[in-house]
Order: sequence, then structure tokens, then C-alpha cells
Amino acid sequence: MTTSSRRVFMMQVAAAGATGLMAARASAQTGALVADTDPQGVALGYKSDTTKVDAAKYPKHLATQNCASCALYQGKAADKAGGCPLFAGKQVAATGWCSAYAKKAA
Ligand code: SF4
Repeated sequence: MTTSSRRVFMMQVAAAGATGLMAARASAQTGALVADTDPQGVALGYKSDTTKVDAAKYPKHLATQNCASCALYQGKAADKAGGCPLFAGKQVAATGWCSAYAKKAA
């Protein structure tokens, strides 16, 4: 493979990956809201309202933490809900929280 054909190949791979990622994001942003009773949500301690998180079970949780400030949140700042890779095909509330919370870099 020549340098230029390798470059073209790599660009095609990158483009295909980006297209797949965009499709996954699009479907994540149009899904149903994750309910507090969702089995995966329960396993992760997810609550759609961060103030309702079980403090005894998650002592490190802070009421100032929520999905909107989590590095995994895929919604925009003004969105009330957005995608999260932990809940494929669904949306989490911007005001929500789960035990996988990781503060978004400033
Ligand atoms: Fe919310 Fe982050 Fe947990 Fe996803 S990982 S549910 S965005 S706190």
C-alpha cells in the first residue's frame, strides 16, 4: 500500500467511524427517558433527580453533581435530557445522577 492510498484508506475508516458514532448519538438523543425503576438505573443508583439519591448508599454523592455536569452526558447545556453511553438508546435527565458520575472537565 502506498503512502497516499494508506492515507485515503485511513480517512475512509475515520469517516465511517464518525458516521457510526453520529448515528449512535442521534439514536441516544431521541430515546425514552430512563425511569428511576429501570433495572440498569437501579444497579447504578440512577435517579432522575439528583437530590433523591440514596445518601447512605452513595456517601460521596453531592447534590451539586448531575448528569448535565457529567463527562458522559451527551446533551447540550440547555437540554432537559440527553444521551448517556451507559443507557444506550435512552435519555437521562439533565438533573439526574448515577454512581458512574465523572465531573466534566471545565
Ligand atoms: Fe448521568 Fe453521568 Fe451517570 Fe450518565 S454516567 S447517568 S450522564 S451521571
